[in-house]
Amino acid sequence: MTRRVIVVGGGPAGMMVGGTAGIRGLDVLLIEKNSSLGRKLLLTGKGRCNFTNDTSLQELINNIPINGRFLYSAFTKFSNKDLIRFFNDLGVETKVERGGRVFPKSDRASDILHALERYLRSNNVKIMRGEVKRILRDNSKVIGVTLSEGRFIPSDSVIIATGGLSYPETGSTGDGYRFAKELGHTIVTPKPSLVPLEIEEPWVADLQGLTLKNVAIKVIDHSEREIYNDFGEMLFTHFGVSGPVILSASSHMRGIDRNRYRIIIDLKPGLSDEELDRRIQKDFAKYSRRYFANSLDELLPRSLIPVVVELSGIRRDKYVNQISREERRRLVRLLKNLSITVSRFRPIEEAIVTSGGVNVNEINPSTMESKIVKGLFFAGEVIDVDGYTGGFNLQIAFSTGYVAGNSC
Ligand SMILES: Cc1cc2nc3c(=O)[nH]c(=O)nc-3n(C[C@H](O)[C@H](O)[C@H](O)COP(=O)(O)OP(=O)(O)OC[C@H]3O[C@@H](n4cnc5c(N)ncnc54)[C@H](O)[C@@H]3O)c2cc1C
Repeated sequence: MTRRVIVVGGGPAGMMVGGTAGIRGLDVLLIEKNSSLGRKLLLTGKGRCNFTNDTSLQELINNIPINGRFLYSAFTKFSNKDLIRFFNDLGVETKVERGGRVFPKSDRASDILHALERYLRSNNVKIMRGEVKRILRDNSKVIGVTLSEGRFIPSDSVIIATGGLSYPETGSTGDGYRFAKELGHTIVTPKPSLVPLEIEEPWVADLQGLTLKNVAIKVIDHSEREIYNDFGEMLFTHFGVSGPVILSASSHMRGIDRNRYRIIIDLKPGLSDEELDRRIQKDFAKYSRRYFANSLDELLPRSLIPVVVELSGIRRDKYVNQISREERRRLVRLLKNLSITVSRFRPIEEAIVTSGGVNVNEINPSTMESKIVKGLFFAGEVIDVDGYTGGFNLQIAFSTGYVAGNSC
């Protein structure tokens, strides 16, 4: 009799498991609680889906700060190059952007989703809409699942691909942690990663809605050590800061509850202190008869001006031609070192990924099978692995999905 495999969750990991197990001729049933598959996938990369990174195997692992080594075998079996080829073979043309980020050439995450749906269809995977409530075991072997409506569906293997706890409206509500725990696994406490930051300084709220496209940031820890730097886009919100460089920075802020982190923003990274000083002198010469507060229009976005004026300590109604050299130097220092203090992470629901999950010591890294319950497998974000931004998290989902699909 054909072996029956149940995949719980129709995100990128679950779809990869389903199609890959289907190729092997198994009877595969994929159960997804949403009315459509891959809801979170459609949001990725701002709707463009940065699905992997064009880098070396070692760099893939280096970009996964939590348990990257656990993925060595999965990445060897199904690498970033394999993933790009996989989508190319399914008719999706791809392109590489800054920092090795790989996207579909169309810039449409839906092209990735549709390719995965074709992969499922062509490998005869049955898709069922339903919510798995429990996974059942008999002694040390999995025997099937029950749905929320009460029905029992027997199977020889079950793959948990239910994702993490972030963006719960997409369906990722942490069910897999509960299933794994009920079956005897330990769960490393889920925490937000790649998450917006709340900021102490009250003036930050005045900048709500402001996007800064080309800034350099440094993260400084409580011992004044620089632990991270980056260049790119950030934005201000009603609670603090977000945007690509901030999300990446957040995943370096370990133990946020114990440690105090500051972010130093260089608003003019393209200019040295001297160059910026010369630039300001030029503006000041042009607007010598204006008040200081009205002299920065060409240098800064409008909403930033009152904040910079206030923080500079220079009177807003001082005539520009009366500003001293020392005051101007202070202004330069401020623009190159705008400091904000992180008070806390935003809640896990707002995080891009969940750090924590099923303990990797309890999973066989070359099959993704549970070491505790036979026939139970894991794939994707439910496992205690998480990476930086740049396509690493989806690569984790696809590589672990591929391995689980070939082993179940
Ligand atoms: C806004 C945003 C942007 C992102 N951008 C990127 C990016 O560009 N690149 C990148 O690499 N990563 C990105 N990520 C992260 C990436 O989306 C996740 O790491 C990835 O989706 C994890 O895949 P998964 O299949 O493990 O879980 P999910 O995608 O969370 O899928 C899990 C599925 O399981 C279903 N499910 C849950 N419980 C049950 C149940 N009891 N019964 C049935 N079904 C269930 C859910 O409905 C869901 O469809 C982004 C995340 C967010 C939120």
